[in-house]
Amino acid sequence: MYRATPTLRLIALVLGCTATLVNAASPLPKSLVTVQAPPYAAVTLPFKLHKIPDVPVYYVVGLSGVPDSVNQGHTSNAGFVVTDEGVVVFDALGTPALGYRLLERIREVTDKPVKRIVVSHYHADHIYGLQAFKDYGGAPPVLAQRGTLGYTSGSVASQGEDGERRLEQRRQALFPWVDEKTVIVAPDQVFDKEFCFQLGGVRFEIKHLGPAHAPGDSIMLVKKYGVLFGGDVLYGGRVPFLDSPETDIDRWLKGLDYIARLKATVRYIIPGHGVLSKNPQEVVVATRDYLLFVRQAMAAAVRNFVPFDEAYRNTDWSKYAKLPAFEASNRGNAYRIYLEEESRLLQ
Ligand SMILES: [Zn+2]
Repeated sequence: MYRATPTLRLIALVLGCTATLVNAASPLPKSLVTVQAPPYAAVTLPFKLHKIPDVPVYYVVGLSGVPDSVNQGHTSNAGFVVTDEGVVVFDALGTPALGYRLLERIREVTDKPVKRIVVSHYHADHIYGLQAFKDYGGAPPVLAQRGTLGYTSGSVASQGEDGERRLEQRRQALFPWVDEKTVIVAPDQVFDKEFCFQLGGVRFEIKHLGPAHAPGDSIMLVKKYGVLFGGDVLYGGRVPFLDSPETDIDRWLKGLDYIARLKATVRYIIPGHGVLSKNPQEVVVATRDYLLFVRQAMAAAVRNFVPFDEAYRNTDWSKYAKLPAFEASNRGNAYRIYLEEESRLLQ
């Protein structure tokens, strides 16, 4: 059981972007070679490991759609960077079984220990895999922004997704990959605005851009390799998810502006969901365009006192209708923004 009070689990609190060494006291990982059978339900989907050309940065791409038994919960992206001293992982996927598959993929590339896992935000599709790293990956420290602590303390008010209720839902929807043994692994380390560290001659810069999609939204920049891990602030070739009370469109747009200003240093962007684009800025522009389009359409409707159903029907969604996740997310997204605009008008 990894739930614990923040006071017990907080190993580091870092204000500002100062260099911090990875906790060297982490035990070395158990060798996966000795594990005869996967300790979790088998993942039968293809689980292709992609590599950024010429640099030791790897990633997997989830399928589009709501987590269900068809996609086996594999809907989000995750990645890792191999250095001479160990591995840094970004996000851990949506089931312990998928986290274990990711660990297996890491072991195919290197036998170096996993030294740290950086989590973009605490939503089920990015964190349930942490359990596999705790049990079979040497229990590396998990780093996340302070805003994620509300999730692990089960506070509905502070999170768009209530952790315990979501876990119950996933035990139904994703059984046997999520079951009664699945637990929520809390962060071991939290930071406020930025956190930087060096490992094996590589500098990792993590920055909080939330609340955008969720309170903890953070990105990780690996300048040496020109790679940015975007978490759910960025969606590649699919409709973003805005339907959460914690979504903050203004801050989200500011976060996208910040990422756009990194243009000169970023050659590859690995989004939280969806595919990589040849031109990394395409992902930034596409996410921003969608946010602005929905907001402008719904704001106009609110100003003219058009009821939501009518406003939704009258909006020309053709630009987005063919994208993955449109059916699942677009109406909820629009409604969330409609409500936001309504309360803005009443202020
Ligand atoms: Zn996600």
